[in-house]
Amino acid sequence: MGKSIAVLGAGSVGISTAIHLQQRGWDVTLIDRAEPASETSYGNAGVVNASSFVTLNNPALYKKLPAMLLNNTSYLRYNLPHVLKNLPWVFHFLKNANKQQTVQTAADLASLIEPALDEHKALMQRAGNMHRLAEVGWLKVFRQGAGFDPEGLEGQLYRRFGIAIDTLDAAAIRELEPSLAPIYGAGFLIRDSASVNNPGALLREYVQQFISDGGTLLNDDIQDLSSTAEGFELQGNGGLHKYPHLVVAAGPWSADVLSMLGYKTQLGFERGYHQHYHLSEGASLGRSVHDVESGFIVGPMEIGVRITTGVELNHRDAESNHAQLEQVLPRVREALPIGEPTDDPIWRGCRPTFPDSKPVIDRAPRHDHLWLAFGHQHIGLMSGPVTGKLVAQLASGESTDIDLQPFSAQRWIQ
Ligand SMILES: Cc1cc2nc3c(=O)[nH]c(=O)nc-3n(C[C@H](O)[C@H](O)[C@H](O)COP(=O)(O)OP(=O)(O)OC[C@H]3O[C@@H](n4cnc5c(N)ncnc54)[C@H](O)[C@@H]3O)c2cc1C
Repeated sequence: MGKSIAVLGAGSVGISTAIHLQQRGWDVTLIDRAEPASETSYGNAGVVNASSFVTLNNPALYKKLPAMLLNNTSYLRYNLPHVLKNLPWVFHFLKNANKQQTVQTAADLASLIEPALDEHKALMQRAGNMHRLAEVGWLKVFRQGAGFDPEGLEGQLYRRFGIAIDTLDAAAIRELEPSLAPIYGAGFLIRDSASVNNPGALLREYVQQFISDGGTLLNDDIQDLSSTAEGFELQGNGGLHKYPHLVVAAGPWSADVLSMLGYKTQLGFERGYHQHYHLSEGASLGRSVHDVESGFIVGPMEIGVRITTGVELNHRDAESNHAQLEQVLPRVREALPIGEPTDDPIWRGCRPTFPDSKPVIDRAPRHDHLWLAFGHQHIGLMSGPVTGKLVAQLASGESTDIDLQPFSAQRWIQ
Protein backbone atom coordinates (compact mmCIF):
# COMPACT_ATOMS: atom_id res chain seq x y z
CA MET A 1 0.00 0.00 0.00
CA GLY A 2 1.33 3.44 -0.93
CA LYS A 3 1.55 6.53 1.26
CA SER A 4 -1.75 7.61 2.67
CA ILE A 5 -3.41 10.90 1.70
CA ALA A 6 -6.88 12.41 2.04
CA VAL A 7 -8.54 14.77 -0.41
CA LEU A 8 -11.16 16.96 1.23
CA GLY A 9 -13.87 17.90 -1.27
CA ALA A 10 -15.30 15.68 -3.99
CA GLY A 11 -15.99 18.22 -6.72
CA SER A 12 -14.33 18.35 -10.11
CA VAL A 13 -11.01 19.38 -8.55
CA GLY A 14 -10.95 16.94 -5.61
CA ILE A 15 -12.18 13.93 -7.63
CA SER A 16 -9.57 14.51 -10.32
CA THR A 17 -6.85 15.01 -7.72
CA ALA A 18 -7.80 11.76 -5.98
CA ILE A 19 -7.57 9.84 -9.27
CA HIS A 20 -4.20 11.29 -10.25
CA LEU A 21 -2.78 10.56 -6.79
CA GLN A 22 -4.12 7.02 -7.04
CA GLN A 23 -2.45 6.61 -10.41
CA ARG A 24 0.84 7.48 -8.72
CA GLY A 25 0.47 4.75 -6.11
CA TRP A 26 -0.97 6.78 -3.19
CA ASP A 27 -3.56 5.23 -0.88
CA VAL A 28 -6.28 7.84 -1.32
CA THR A 29 -9.37 8.70 0.71
CA LEU A 30 -11.75 11.17 -0.93
CA ILE A 31 -13.92 12.92 1.65
CA ASP A 32 -17.18 14.76 1.17
CA ARG A 33 -20.20 15.42 3.35
CA ALA A 34 -22.48 15.10 0.34
CA GLU A 35 -22.72 12.84 -2.66
CA PRO A 36 -19.68 13.50 -4.91
CA ALA A 37 -20.14 16.31 -7.43
CA SER A 38 -23.37 17.55 -5.94
CA GLU A 39 -22.31 21.16 -5.34
CA THR A 40 -20.66 23.62 -7.77
CA SER A 41 -19.41 20.82 -9.96
CA TYR A 42 -22.97 19.60 -10.48
CA GLY A 43 -24.70 22.78 -11.55
CA ASN A 44 -22.33 24.42 -14.00
CA ALA A 45 -22.90 24.92 -17.74
CA GLY A 46 -20.88 21.81 -18.59
CA VAL A 47 -18.61 23.57 -21.06
CA VAL A 48 -14.97 22.79 -21.76
CA ASN A 49 -14.17 25.99 -23.56
CA ALA A 50 -10.77 26.55 -25.10
CA SER A 51 -11.17 30.34 -24.80
CA SER A 52 -12.21 30.71 -21.15
CA PHE A 53 -8.96 32.47 -20.28
CA VAL A 54 -10.52 35.94 -20.76
CA THR A 55 -11.67 36.71 -17.23
CA LEU A 56 -14.72 38.67 -16.10
CA ASN A 57 -12.40 41.29 -14.64
CA ASN A 58 -11.03 42.50 -17.97
CA PRO A 59 -10.89 46.13 -19.23
CA ALA A 60 -14.45 45.88 -20.66
CA LEU A 61 -15.65 45.71 -17.05
CA TYR A 62 -14.69 49.35 -16.49
CA LYS A 63 -16.92 50.39 -19.42
CA LYS A 64 -19.82 48.39 -18.01
CA LEU A 65 -19.39 49.77 -14.47
CA PRO A 66 -21.93 52.63 -14.77
CA ALA A 67 -24.61 50.19 -16.00
CA MET A 68 -23.64 47.69 -13.32
CA LEU A 69 -23.96 50.25 -10.53
CA LEU A 70 -27.70 50.28 -11.24
CA ASN A 71 -27.61 46.65 -10.13
CA ASN A 72 -30.12 45.42 -12.70
CA THR A 73 -27.99 43.77 -15.38
CA SER A 74 -28.32 40.07 -16.16
CA TYR A 75 -24.57 39.47 -16.30
CA LEU A 76 -23.71 40.93 -12.88
CA ARG A 77 -25.68 41.76 -9.74
CA TYR A 78 -24.47 42.43 -6.25
CA ASN A 79 -25.68 42.61 -2.70
CA LEU A 80 -24.52 46.00 -1.42
CA PRO A 81 -23.96 45.08 2.26
CA HIS A 82 -21.95 42.03 1.12
CA VAL A 83 -19.85 44.16 -1.23
CA LEU A 84 -19.22 46.76 1.47
CA LYS A 85 -18.14 44.02 3.88
CA ASN A 86 -15.72 42.64 1.29
CA LEU A 87 -14.24 45.83 -0.11
CA PRO A 88 -10.62 44.53 -0.23
CA TRP A 89 -11.73 41.63 -2.47
CA VAL A 90 -13.81 43.97 -4.69
CA PHE A 91 -10.98 46.50 -4.87
CA HIS A 92 -8.40 43.89 -5.95
CA PHE A 93 -10.88 42.30 -8.39
CA LEU A 94 -11.44 45.66 -10.11
CA LYS A 95 -7.75 46.57 -9.95
CA ASN A 96 -6.90 43.39 -11.84
CA ALA A 97 -9.21 44.37 -14.70
CA ASN A 98 -6.47 46.40 -16.43
CA LYS A 99 -5.13 45.35 -19.82
CA GLN A 100 -1.68 44.24 -18.72
CA GLN A 101 -3.04 42.03 -15.95
CA THR A 102 -5.77 40.61 -18.21
CA VAL A 103 -3.18 39.55 -20.78
CA GLN A 104 -0.95 37.97 -18.12
CA THR A 105 -3.89 36.21 -16.46
CA ALA A 106 -5.02 34.90 -19.85
CA ALA A 107 -1.59 33.38 -20.42
CA ASP A 108 -1.63 31.78 -16.96
CA LEU A 109 -5.16 30.39 -17.33
CA ALA A 110 -4.46 29.21 -20.88
CA SER A 111 -1.79 26.94 -19.44
CA LEU A 112 -4.53 25.20 -17.41
CA ILE A 113 -7.19 25.25 -20.14
CA GLU A 114 -5.18 24.16 -23.15
CA PRO A 115 -4.73 20.58 -21.87
CA ALA A 116 -8.22 20.46 -20.27
CA LEU A 117 -10.10 18.55 -22.95
CA ASP A 118 -7.41 15.88 -23.34
CA GLU A 119 -7.13 15.41 -19.58
CA HIS A 120 -10.91 14.96 -19.30
CA LYS A 121 -10.84 12.49 -22.17
CA ALA A 122 -8.18 10.45 -20.38
CA LEU A 123 -10.46 10.20 -17.32
CA MET A 124 -13.48 9.45 -19.51
CA GLN A 125 -11.63 6.62 -21.20
CA ARG A 126 -10.88 5.06 -17.81
CA ALA A 127 -14.45 5.52 -16.58
CA GLY A 128 -16.03 4.46 -19.88
CA ASN A 129 -18.20 7.57 -20.16
CA MET A 130 -16.92 9.22 -23.32
CA HIS A 131 -20.53 9.26 -24.57
CA ARG A 132 -21.17 12.26 -22.28
CA LEU A 133 -18.87 14.47 -24.34
CA ALA A 134 -19.97 16.37 -27.45
CA GLU A 135 -17.09 17.99 -29.33
CA VAL A 136 -19.25 20.50 -31.16
CA GLY A 137 -17.68 23.83 -30.24
CA TRP A 138 -19.15 26.72 -28.28
CA LEU A 139 -21.40 29.28 -29.93
CA LYS A 140 -21.44 32.96 -28.92
CA VAL A 141 -24.23 34.99 -30.51
CA PHE A 142 -25.15 38.67 -30.71
CA ARG A 143 -28.57 40.22 -31.39
CA GLN A 144 -27.56 43.72 -32.31
CA GLY A 145 -23.97 44.99 -32.48
CA ALA A 146 -21.48 43.70 -34.95
CA GLY A 147 -20.69 40.92 -32.55
CA PHE A 148 -17.15 39.83 -32.24
CA ASP A 149 -14.41 42.41 -32.86
CA PRO A 150 -11.39 40.44 -34.08
CA GLU A 151 -9.15 43.47 -33.45
CA GLY A 152 -10.31 43.92 -29.85
CA LEU A 153 -8.45 42.52 -26.84
CA GLU A 154 -10.43 39.27 -26.85
CA GLY A 155 -9.66 38.71 -30.53
CA GLN A 156 -5.98 39.47 -29.97
CA LEU A 157 -5.86 36.96 -27.13
CA TYR A 158 -7.58 34.30 -29.23
CA ARG A 159 -4.94 34.72 -31.91
CA ARG A 160 -2.13 34.73 -29.41
CA PHE A 161 -3.25 31.45 -27.89
CA GLY A 162 -4.19 29.81 -31.19
CA ILE A 163 -7.95 29.63 -30.62
CA ALA A 164 -9.72 28.60 -33.81
CA ILE A 165 -12.96 30.49 -34.40
CA ASP A 166 -15.48 30.63 -37.23
CA THR A 167 -17.15 34.01 -37.68
CA LEU A 168 -20.82 33.53 -38.48
CA ASP A 169 -23.55 35.66 -40.06
CA ALA A 170 -27.27 35.20 -39.41
CA ALA A 171 -27.63 32.46 -42.04
CA ALA A 172 -24.63 30.50 -40.78
CA ILE A 173 -25.97 30.62 -37.20
CA ARG A 174 -29.32 29.24 -38.41
CA GLU A 175 -27.59 26.51 -40.37
CA LEU A 176 -25.69 25.44 -37.28
CA GLU A 177 -28.66 25.74 -34.89
CA PRO A 178 -31.90 25.62 -36.91
CA SER A 179 -34.13 25.93 -33.83
CA LEU A 180 -32.68 29.30 -32.82
CA ALA A 181 -35.01 32.14 -33.77
CA PRO A 182 -33.68 34.46 -36.51
CA ILE A 183 -32.81 37.17 -33.98
CA TYR A 184 -29.07 36.79 -34.05
CA GLY A 185 -27.21 38.89 -36.59
CA ALA A 186 -23.70 37.72 -35.80
CA GLY A 187 -21.82 35.16 -33.82
CA PHE A 188 -18.77 33.02 -33.62
CA LEU A 189 -18.07 29.39 -33.00
CA ILE A 190 -15.12 28.50 -30.81
CA ARG A 191 -14.25 25.29 -32.54
CA ASP A 192 -12.03 23.32 -30.16
CA SER A 193 -14.58 23.40 -27.36
CA ALA A 194 -16.91 20.74 -26.07
CA SER A 195 -19.65 20.15 -23.53
CA VAL A 196 -20.81 17.33 -21.33
CA ASN A 197 -24.44 16.33 -21.00
CA ASN A 198 -24.48 15.93 -17.20
CA PRO A 199 -21.47 17.26 -15.26
CA GLY A 200 -22.58 15.65 -11.97
CA ALA A 201 -23.02 12.19 -13.52
CA LEU A 202 -19.76 12.49 -15.44
CA LEU A 203 -17.81 13.13 -12.24
CA ARG A 204 -19.68 10.50 -10.21
CA GLU A 205 -18.72 7.95 -12.86
CA TYR A 206 -15.09 9.03 -12.40
CA VAL A 207 -15.54 8.35 -8.67
CA GLN A 208 -16.99 4.88 -9.35
CA GLN A 209 -13.86 4.05 -11.33
CA PHE A 210 -11.67 5.47 -8.53
CA ILE A 211 -13.44 3.16 -6.06
CA SER A 212 -13.17 0.15 -8.41
CA ASP A 213 -9.45 0.86 -8.62
CA GLY A 214 -9.12 0.63 -4.81
CA GLY A 215 -9.81 4.23 -3.69
CA THR A 216 -11.89 5.02 -0.61
CA LEU A 217 -14.83 7.41 -0.54
CA LEU A 218 -15.62 8.70 2.96
CA ASN A 219 -18.91 10.44 3.59
CA ASP A 220 -18.37 12.87 6.49
CA ASP A 221 -18.82 16.54 7.28
CA ILE A 222 -15.47 17.83 8.53
CA GLN A 223 -16.03 20.23 11.41
CA ASP A 224 -12.49 20.67 12.66
CA LEU A 225 -8.99 20.22 11.34
CA SER A 226 -5.68 20.28 13.17
CA SER A 227 -2.10 19.44 12.38
CA THR A 228 0.00 17.08 14.49
CA ALA A 229 3.55 15.73 14.26
CA GLU A 230 2.15 12.80 12.23
CA GLY A 231 0.03 14.85 9.83
CA PHE A 232 -3.59 15.97 10.06
CA GLU A 233 -6.59 15.13 12.21
CA LEU A 234 -9.98 15.74 10.68
CA GLN A 235 -12.87 15.75 13.09
CA GLY A 236 -16.04 14.81 11.29
CA ASN A 237 -19.55 14.08 12.50
CA GLY A 238 -18.71 10.42 11.92
CA GLY A 239 -15.47 10.36 13.92
CA LEU A 240 -11.82 11.39 13.91
CA HIS A 241 -9.81 10.67 10.75
CA LYS A 242 -5.99 10.86 10.61
CA TYR A 243 -3.85 11.20 7.51
CA PRO A 244 -0.18 12.08 7.06
CA HIS A 245 -0.94 14.12 3.92
CA LEU A 246 -3.96 16.21 2.98
CA VAL A 247 -5.31 18.08 -0.06
CA VAL A 248 -7.90 20.81 0.49
CA ALA A 249 -10.12 20.99 -2.59
CA ALA A 250 -13.30 22.19 -0.93
CA GLY A 251 -14.28 24.74 -3.60
CA PRO A 252 -16.18 27.69 -2.09
CA TRP A 253 -15.78 26.22 1.43
CA SER A 254 -11.99 26.07 1.25
CA ALA A 255 -11.40 29.31 3.18
CA ASP A 256 -13.55 27.96 6.04
CA VAL A 257 -11.55 24.73 6.10
CA LEU A 258 -8.20 26.54 6.06
CA SER A 259 -9.31 28.90 8.84
CA MET A 260 -9.30 25.82 11.12
CA LEU A 261 -5.52 25.80 10.67
CA GLY A 262 -5.23 29.54 11.24
CA TYR A 263 -5.05 30.69 7.61
CA LYS A 264 -6.77 33.81 6.30
CA THR A 265 -7.91 33.35 2.70
CA GLN A 266 -9.27 36.05 0.39
CA LEU A 267 -11.72 33.87 -1.52
CA GLY A 268 -14.79 35.52 -3.03
CA PHE A 269 -18.06 34.09 -4.27
CA GLU A 270 -19.53 34.57 -7.74
CA ARG A 271 -22.91 32.94 -7.36
CA GLY A 272 -24.93 31.59 -10.27
CA TYR A 273 -28.17 29.76 -10.96
CA HIS A 274 -29.53 27.19 -13.35
CA GLN A 275 -32.92 25.89 -14.35
CA HIS A 276 -33.81 23.05 -16.70
CA TYR A 277 -36.49 23.29 -19.35
CA HIS A 278 -37.95 20.85 -21.84
CA LEU A 279 -37.43 21.80 -25.46
CA SER A 280 -40.68 22.14 -27.41
CA GLU A 281 -41.57 19.25 -29.67
CA GLY A 282 -39.47 19.19 -32.83
CA ALA A 283 -36.92 21.70 -31.51
CA SER A 284 -33.27 20.81 -31.05
CA LEU A 285 -30.11 22.32 -29.62
CA GLY A 286 -26.77 20.94 -30.76
CA ARG A 287 -24.40 22.84 -28.52
CA SER A 288 -24.11 25.39 -25.72
CA VAL A 289 -25.07 28.87 -26.83
CA HIS A 290 -24.00 32.05 -25.06
CA ASP A 291 -26.29 35.01 -25.78
CA VAL A 292 -23.76 37.65 -24.85
CA GLU A 293 -26.02 40.73 -24.64
CA SER A 294 -28.78 38.89 -22.77
CA GLY A 295 -26.39 37.33 -20.26
CA PHE A 296 -27.35 33.66 -20.38
CA ILE A 297 -25.95 30.35 -21.56
CA VAL A 298 -28.32 27.62 -22.70
CA GLY A 299 -26.98 24.15 -23.33
CA PRO A 300 -28.30 20.67 -24.08
CA MET A 301 -28.27 18.33 -21.09
CA GLU A 302 -29.54 14.79 -20.59
CA ILE A 303 -32.56 16.10 -18.72
CA GLY A 304 -33.53 18.96 -21.07
CA VAL A 305 -31.83 22.28 -21.70
CA ARG A 306 -29.97 23.97 -18.86
CA ILE A 307 -30.14 27.75 -18.62
CA THR A 308 -27.34 29.24 -16.55
CA THR A 309 -27.05 32.81 -15.34
CA GLY A 310 -24.30 35.41 -14.94
CA VAL A 311 -22.65 36.47 -11.71
CA GLU A 312 -24.22 37.51 -8.42
CA LEU A 313 -21.78 38.87 -5.82
CA ASN A 314 -23.23 37.80 -2.52
CA HIS A 315 -22.34 35.64 0.43
CA ARG A 316 -22.17 31.96 -0.41
CA ASP A 317 -24.97 31.08 1.99
CA ALA A 318 -27.29 34.10 1.57
CA GLU A 319 -30.83 33.42 0.43
CA SER A 320 -31.35 32.86 -3.29
CA ASN A 321 -32.35 35.77 -5.48
CA HIS A 322 -33.87 34.61 -8.75
CA ALA A 323 -33.93 38.07 -10.34
CA GLN A 324 -31.28 37.29 -12.97
CA LEU A 325 -32.98 34.05 -13.95
CA GLU A 326 -36.35 35.80 -14.18
CA GLN A 327 -34.72 38.52 -16.26
CA VAL A 328 -33.24 36.14 -18.82
CA LEU A 329 -36.11 33.67 -19.18
CA PRO A 330 -38.16 35.82 -21.59
CA ARG A 331 -34.98 36.36 -23.62
CA VAL A 332 -34.40 32.60 -23.75
CA ARG A 333 -37.99 32.10 -24.93
CA GLU A 334 -37.38 34.65 -27.71
CA ALA A 335 -34.35 32.64 -28.79
CA LEU A 336 -35.41 29.03 -28.45
CA PRO A 337 -38.74 27.17 -28.35
CA ILE A 338 -38.78 25.87 -24.77
CA GLY A 339 -41.79 24.45 -22.98
CA GLU A 340 -42.22 23.82 -19.28
CA PRO A 341 -39.44 23.64 -16.68
CA THR A 342 -38.48 20.12 -15.64
CA ASP A 343 -39.30 18.94 -12.13
CA ASP A 344 -35.87 19.80 -10.69
CA PRO A 345 -35.73 22.82 -8.43
CA ILE A 346 -33.83 25.95 -9.47
CA TRP A 347 -30.19 25.38 -8.56
CA ARG A 348 -27.86 27.90 -6.95
CA GLY A 349 -24.10 27.51 -6.76
CA CYS A 350 -21.04 29.52 -6.09
CA ARG A 351 -17.94 30.00 -8.23
CA PRO A 352 -14.98 30.23 -5.82
CA THR A 353 -12.95 33.21 -7.04
CA PHE A 354 -9.75 34.91 -5.98
CA PRO A 355 -9.43 38.63 -6.85
CA ASP A 356 -7.03 37.84 -9.72
CA SER A 357 -9.34 35.12 -11.13
CA LYS A 358 -6.67 32.43 -10.85
CA PRO A 359 -6.87 29.36 -8.62
CA VAL A 360 -4.38 28.37 -5.97
CA ILE A 361 -2.48 25.17 -6.82
CA ASP A 362 0.31 24.95 -4.28
CA ARG A 363 1.66 23.64 -1.04
CA ALA A 364 0.22 25.45 2.00
CA PRO A 365 2.45 28.27 3.26
CA ARG A 366 3.00 26.83 6.76
CA HIS A 367 2.35 23.07 6.37
CA ASP A 368 4.67 20.79 4.42
CA HIS A 369 2.20 17.99 3.72
CA LEU A 370 -0.82 20.11 2.97
CA TRP A 371 -1.75 20.83 -0.64
CA LEU A 372 -4.23 23.42 -1.84
CA ALA A 373 -6.36 23.29 -5.00
CA PHE A 374 -9.28 25.69 -5.15
CA GLY A 375 -10.49 29.03 -6.52
CA HIS A 376 -11.27 27.83 -10.05
CA GLN A 377 -13.97 30.49 -10.63
CA HIS A 378 -15.66 29.93 -14.04
CA ILE A 379 -13.34 27.13 -15.22
CA GLY A 380 -13.35 24.47 -12.50
CA LEU A 381 -15.26 21.80 -14.36
CA MET A 382 -12.93 21.98 -17.35
CA SER A 383 -9.67 22.47 -15.48
CA GLY A 384 -10.32 19.99 -12.63
CA PRO A 385 -8.39 17.12 -14.25
CA VAL A 386 -5.45 19.36 -15.20
CA THR A 387 -5.31 20.68 -11.64
CA GLY A 388 -5.60 17.17 -10.23
CA LYS A 389 -2.62 16.03 -12.22
CA LEU A 390 -0.56 19.05 -11.12
CA VAL A 391 -1.35 18.52 -7.43
CA ALA A 392 -0.50 14.83 -7.72
CA GLN A 393 2.81 15.72 -9.38
CA LEU A 394 3.58 18.27 -6.63
CA ALA A 395 2.70 15.92 -3.77
CA SER A 396 4.68 13.09 -5.39
CA GLY A 397 7.78 15.24 -5.77
CA GLU A 398 7.66 15.16 -9.59
CA SER A 399 8.31 18.15 -11.79
CA THR A 400 5.01 19.68 -12.83
CA ASP A 401 3.73 19.87 -16.42
CA ILE A 402 3.48 23.67 -16.18
CA ASP A 403 4.97 26.45 -14.07
CA LEU A 404 2.86 26.77 -10.91
CA GLN A 405 4.26 30.10 -9.80
CA PRO A 406 1.17 32.02 -11.12
CA PHE A 407 -1.01 29.85 -8.87
CA SER A 408 0.96 30.34 -5.65
CA ALA A 409 -0.84 30.29 -2.32
CA GLN A 410 0.94 33.31 -0.91
CA ARG A 411 -0.98 35.59 -3.31
CA TRP A 412 -4.12 35.38 -1.21
CA ILE A 413 -3.51 33.05 1.72
CA GLN A 414 -1.73 34.13 4.92
C1 LIG B 1 -23.64 28.90 -13.01
C2 LIG B 1 -22.26 28.32 -13.16
C3 LIG B 1 -21.82 27.91 -14.41
C4 LIG B 1 -20.54 27.38 -14.57
N1 LIG B 1 -20.15 26.88 -15.79
C5 LIG B 1 -18.94 26.28 -15.94
C6 LIG B 1 -18.56 25.66 -17.16
O1 LIG B 1 -19.33 25.63 -18.13
N2 LIG B 1 -17.33 25.09 -17.25
C7 LIG B 1 -16.46 25.08 -16.19
O2 LIG B 1 -15.35 24.58 -16.35
N3 LIG B 1 -16.80 25.63 -15.01
C8 LIG B 1 -18.01 26.22 -14.85
N4 LIG B 1 -18.38 26.75 -13.64
C9 LIG B 1 -17.39 26.74 -12.54
C10 LIG B 1 -17.25 25.36 -11.91
O3 LIG B 1 -18.52 24.79 -11.68
C11 LIG B 1 -16.48 25.47 -10.59
O4 LIG B 1 -15.28 26.19 -10.79
C12 LIG B 1 -16.11 24.07 -10.08
O5 LIG B 1 -17.25 23.26 -10.01
C13 LIG B 1 -15.44 24.14 -8.73
O6 LIG B 1 -15.15 22.80 -8.37
P1 LIG B 1 -14.54 22.44 -6.97
O7 LIG B 1 -14.21 20.99 -7.00
O8 LIG B 1 -13.46 23.40 -6.64
O9 LIG B 1 -15.73 22.77 -5.92
P2 LIG B 1 -17.10 21.98 -5.60
O10 LIG B 1 -17.64 21.31 -6.80
O11 LIG B 1 -18.00 22.95 -4.91
O12 LIG B 1 -16.65 20.85 -4.57
C14 LIG B 1 -16.28 21.15 -3.25
C15 LIG B 1 -16.77 20.01 -2.37
O13 LIG B 1 -16.25 20.16 -1.05
C16 LIG B 1 -17.20 19.63 -0.15
N5 LIG B 1 -16.93 20.17 1.19
C17 LIG B 1 -16.71 21.49 1.49
N6 LIG B 1 -16.48 21.61 2.81
C18 LIG B 1 -16.54 20.37 3.36
C19 LIG B 1 -16.40 19.87 4.69
N7 LIG B 1 -16.13 20.68 5.73
N8 LIG B 1 -16.56 18.53 4.88
C20 LIG B 1 -16.82 17.71 3.84
N9 LIG B 1 -16.98 18.13 2.57
C21 LIG B 1 -16.84 19.46 2.33
C22 LIG B 1 -18.53 20.10 -0.72
O14 LIG B 1 -19.59 19.29 -0.26
C23 LIG B 1 -18.29 19.96 -2.24
O15 LIG B 1 -18.76 18.73 -2.74
C24 LIG B 1 -19.66 27.29 -13.45
C25 LIG B 1 -20.11 27.68 -12.19
C26 LIG B 1 -21.40 28.18 -12.03
C27 LIG B 1 -21.87 28.57 -10.67
